[in-house]
Amino acid sequence: MSRVINFSAGPAALPLEVLEQAKAEMPDWQGSGMSVMEVSHRSKAFIAVAEQAEADLRDLLGISDDYAVMFLQGGATQQFALMPMNLAQPGDSVDYLVTGSWSKKAAKEAAVVRTLNVVADGADSSYTDVPAFDTWRLDANAAYFHYTPNETIGGVEIHEPPQVGAVPIVADMSSTILSRPIDVDRFGAIYAGAQKNIGPAGLTIVIMRRDLLERVPDDVPNILRYKSHADGGSMLNTPPTFAWYLAGLVFQWLKGQGGIAAIAAQNQAKADLLYNAIDASGFYANPVAKPYRSWMNVPFTLAKPDLDGAFLTQAEAAGLMNLKGHRSVGGMRASIYNAMPIGGVQTLVDFMAEFERTNA
Ligand code: PMP
Repeated sequence: MSRVINFSAGPAALPLEVLEQAKAEMPDWQGSGMSVMEVSHRSKAFIAVAEQAEADLRDLLGISDDYAVMFLQGGATQQFALMPMNLAQPGDSVDYLVTGSWSKKAAKEAAVVRTLNVVADGADSSYTDVPAFDTWRLDANAAYFHYTPNETIGGVEIHEPPQVGAVPIVADMSSTILSRPIDVDRFGAIYAGAQKNIGPAGLTIVIMRRDLLERVPDDVPNILRYKSHADGGSMLNTPPTFAWYLAGLVFQWLKGQGGIAAIAAQNQAKADLLYNAIDASGFYANPVAKPYRSWMNVPFTLAKPDLDGAFLTQAEAAGLMNLKGHRSVGGMRASIYNAMPIGGVQTLVDFMAEFERTNA
């Protein structure tokens, strides 16, 4: 078997131990003579898996019983629409901070159903910086404040939740969840597509303060109501059972790594290693303002963009895959989520130094 070093932004690398366990359990799960994909979501055995996954996620992130945890479908993109539908009444205004492609998409979708107030927009810096807090036009009467703590494409990360007074904070944590400790109590709602730090695509985690579940207007259909999903144990209909099971294995793996504080230390070391190598070189550059550099997605450019193709070809030949930057920004991007070992980042840094030596 040969595994590459996978820098994909998502779906992203999963821990090999998790894949091996799923493989071993696949044909005959827990002695059932069936795979976990082939059992009823309402069976005792699957309910136990589902409950354990939720308990482990609560443990890892320190989620209190004041919050509901939901295992849903639809991706983060569906939550772009459901958050304003569930948390704001018709006529309410919602605050959005725009720091890159994903928060922009979230804001655009919110504007379809509610009144949008863009608090600040980082367009002036081409989304390489976050507008200064004293320029934000916060609305104290907003139904909620939405932001994207980590912009997966631009590599802009806001490391602490902003101070927005009593307005509940809603955060799209798709590409940062489980990468570092967070104080869940600072948030009204957190959502994340699974396909980076949680598990396979097809599963979406929503964590929501229980009082906010009650806000849902009467005209929202049942299947689109967070309250119904929370009350129904995320089993209003058939949930993505395999993805839920696999997420549970990832949560167990994370606990085995020492939990979130331990993984955060690794993530910081990985990010430091890569940013230090970029900053020390005259050949590579990262455009993001230093206080907002992402721990998870590191975009970088080459001093000679005509060498981008050669860089990618030689990287692939060295087993370093999926380093091409998003089509909207170009250049390179290394996504270094939890499952990327520091050795993988070291191999990239060594490759970059050698490429610079032979091409600069
Ligand atoms: N938000 C962020 C921050 C993302 O990175 C992504 C996907 N890369 C999305 C939203 C969209 O997620 P999904 O494809 O799960 O809808």
